Amino acid sequence: MAAPILAVRGLSVRYRSKDGETYALDEVSLELAPGGITAVVGESGCGKSTLALAIVGLLPDAAEVLGGTVEYRGRDLLTLPESELRSIRGRRIAVIFQDPVAGLNPVLTVGDQVAEILTAHLRMSRREARRRAVDVLEHVGLPDPERIARAYPFQLSGGMCQRVMIAIATALDPEILIADEPTSALDVTVQAQILREIERLRRERGMAVLLITHDFGVVAQMADEVSVMYAGRIVERGRVDTLMKRPRHPYAYALLSTLPGANRPDRPLPSIPGSPPELSERAVHCPFVPRCWKALARCRTEPPPHFAHAGPGHEVACYNPVWHGDDASSSASQSSGER
Ligand code: ADP
Repeated sequence: MAAPILAVRGLSVRYRSKDGETYALDEVSLELAPGGITAVVGESGCGKSTLALAIVGLLPDAAEVLGGTVEYRGRDLLTLPESELRSIRGRRIAVIFQDPVAGLNPVLTVGDQVAEILTAHLRMSRREARRRAVDVLEHVGLPDPERIARAYPFQLSGGMCQRVMIAIATALDPEILIADEPTSALDVTVQAQILREIERLRRERGMAVLLITHDFGVVAQMADEVSVMYAGRIVERGRVDTLMKRPRHPYAYALLSTLPGANRPDRPLPSIPGSPPELSERAVHCPFVPRCWKALARCRTEPPPHFAHAGPGHEVACYNPVWHGDDASSSASQSSGER
């Protein structure tokens, strides 16, 4: 991959609350290629949103970064003063979240909210910003942008609000867009439109996108690279086509087998039994063991495995990965499975 535009290395985050501690991220590493779409996929509670928030410095007070770096253009965002971070966030790195309505200010018109971003970051009069806001709204495919600029968020549908959020996020031409479950709150047709919009912006503006989702269907449609996350750890990563064709980690395999139309005779289940662990302690062994049908004795007794080669541009952290009948080097896969 070309030199990454963003590199997360060894990031660990813990939440503290009156109920105890949650180890939400455990040594997470991830790279974003310029102009590429990298997906992070995993069930709810695996740490995906924590990762997005940590990257842009928006973790709540209850969170503590235990270690790691987030490198952007040679600087570690985790060590930047808030003022510098604020100007990078918004201008260079933009974020959109799952609930667009919550992300918008209910008492300001949509046009004023877009204009506010423009005047805050660019030298532009309010009048000029209001005019530009209409162009910005038009650019994300909103019909009748002048009317929408005058509307309040509650007057718009969820899909339209998400387009407005995308318009606000991308108004300043960021290099990176972090999209945390951007379509999960929307119905299927609108979901597809919003994903197409993100893809178009990436193509036209060369934005790199970090796409966070629980849905491998979205990954297949959008991403070039994917990292599969489980219990605060990345357990497998690779190119989307390769990983989806030959998932190696039992968790990735099981997640993929829940996709409609998946034909995975090894595990023909509609959902993965059990649920992700509580994360109240740092994982001492592989956290997937209680749900894993391939677990070996060492999975229960040894520290979680490091990444190992699983194919070209494809790595897995598993002592006993899944291998596939059509693997070109099935014997090699077998022996790596018995590491
Ligand atoms: P995902 O985005 O994959 O659903 P999250 O990053 O939201 O996962 O959550 C990861 C873990 O951190 C979960 O166990 C969740 O309960 C916990 N968590 C998230 N936010 C907080 C918080 N503000 N305080 C305490 N625990 C939290």
